[in-house]
Amino acid sequence: MNLSPDIHLVHMFSALAPVFFFFAVHGPLTVVASPVAEHRLQTHRLSGHGSRAQPLRGMWDLPGLGHEPVSPASAGGLSTTAPPGKPLAPVFAGSSLTSLPSSACFPFVCRTHSYHEEEEDIDKAKEQRKEDEEELQLLDWFNPHKRPEVVTMTGWKAPVVWEGTYSRAILENYYAKQKITVGLTVFAVGRYIEHYLEEFLTSANKYFMVGHRVIFYIMVDDVSRMPLIELGPLRSFKVFEIRPEKRWQDISMMRMKTIGEHIVAHIQHEVDFLFCMDVDQVFQDTFGLETLGQSVAQLQAWWYKADPDEFTYERRKESAAYIPFGQGDFYYHAAIFGGTPIQVLNITEECFRGILQDKKNDIEAEWHDESHLNKYFLLNKPTKILSPEYCWDYHIGLPSDIKLVKISWQTKEYNLVRNNV
Ligand code: UDP
Ligand code: MN
Repeated sequence: MNLSPDIHLVHMFSALAPVFFFFAVHGPLTVVASPVAEHRLQTHRLSGHGSRAQPLRGMWDLPGLGHEPVSPASAGGLSTTAPPGKPLAPVFAGSSLTSLPSSACFPFVCRTHSYHEEEEDIDKAKEQRKEDEEELQLLDWFNPHKRPEVVTMTGWKAPVVWEGTYSRAILENYYAKQKITVGLTVFAVGRYIEHYLEEFLTSANKYFMVGHRVIFYIMVDDVSRMPLIELGPLRSFKVFEIRPEKRWQDISMMRMKTIGEHIVAHIQHEVDFLFCMDVDQVFQDTFGLETLGQSVAQLQAWWYKADPDEFTYERRKESAAYIPFGQGDFYYHAAIFGGTPIQVLNITEECFRGILQDKKNDIEAEWHDESHLNKYFLLNKPTKILSPEYCWDYHIGLPSDIKLVKISWQTKEYNLVRNNV
């Protein structure tokens, strides 16, 4: 494990499954781990320390970290043929060069080659072809035609993953060699701990990336109230204590800042992919490899059939989250987003930058972090989109589009769980 110098690992336990890590943040992001047997004892000892993780650098003041632009649109209309998690393979529509076999060459070049050189060329080409065969392509595991009644490809050629469009067997086979680790951040502040956290974690343990290494990053405002969870093999968790904001809107928005800090401090060294989720939802079925990608967005269940002009985007020009009528692709749900750590860092940084700008201008976007996330994904197109089956609200009913619910919303009980309603 590669932790930043600011993080001190006091205990680490059994490499054998199930592994329990217990972490809390105090001072400048200090981490303490304890075995589950000492859980209550440790949490009592630690619970007094709860100050928020200090920024490890002035990341929110800086103009970005020099990441590559992630938007296929801003990168010149590229489309992706990459399997989940693979770097984008740019395909320029209509370019004949990309369709040439790798052994092809121009006549002049060929004439200058000796027989020996040509033999070498053929060997190289064969090798290249073998490598290409090993590289999983989008259409190897994804078939957009399997669900003709719904949108399965975006205008920028990113897959929209619906039940029936993917072959999980092919993906499992491909990823078996790679030994990936997937992270999942979740926040439970105030009454959200007792109300939602246990069910979220128990169901995630059962359905999230089964058979693959998973680290749950759990952010709570009081570690002594963490539920006891027994995790399955290949699963571990780290608990961090964060300072609660007073308003629920700020608790929700500040997640963007905290996630970014933790990616920089340690998550980037620990996982290959990262998801960030709301706690008020429950896994119902396998949330697997088909969801992995460079930057992944979730379709909001109530809006997946609506016209963009109906979306509840932020419509006031004064907000950084402003999206004018006539623009917009989808309405994305902030309850689930993900990608590679570097892409998620970019998402969280940009959203938090917008949130801060709005604070300065004394405006708050209508749907808080979600409005900023929608603005981000408008400018930086996600490379993969998850259908509403991945985050379904049963209050809508169960239309025939929804073949298999992977996560469902909990009933909203704002009056019970929120401080300021
Ligand atoms: N949250 C929390 N405590 C709060 C408010 C929000 O822990 O008092 C976290 C929690 O993870 C929650 C997320 O922020 O799922 C977003 O808030 P909420 O789910 O209430 O928003 P909604 O889904 O209704 O937009
Ligand atoms: Mn929620």
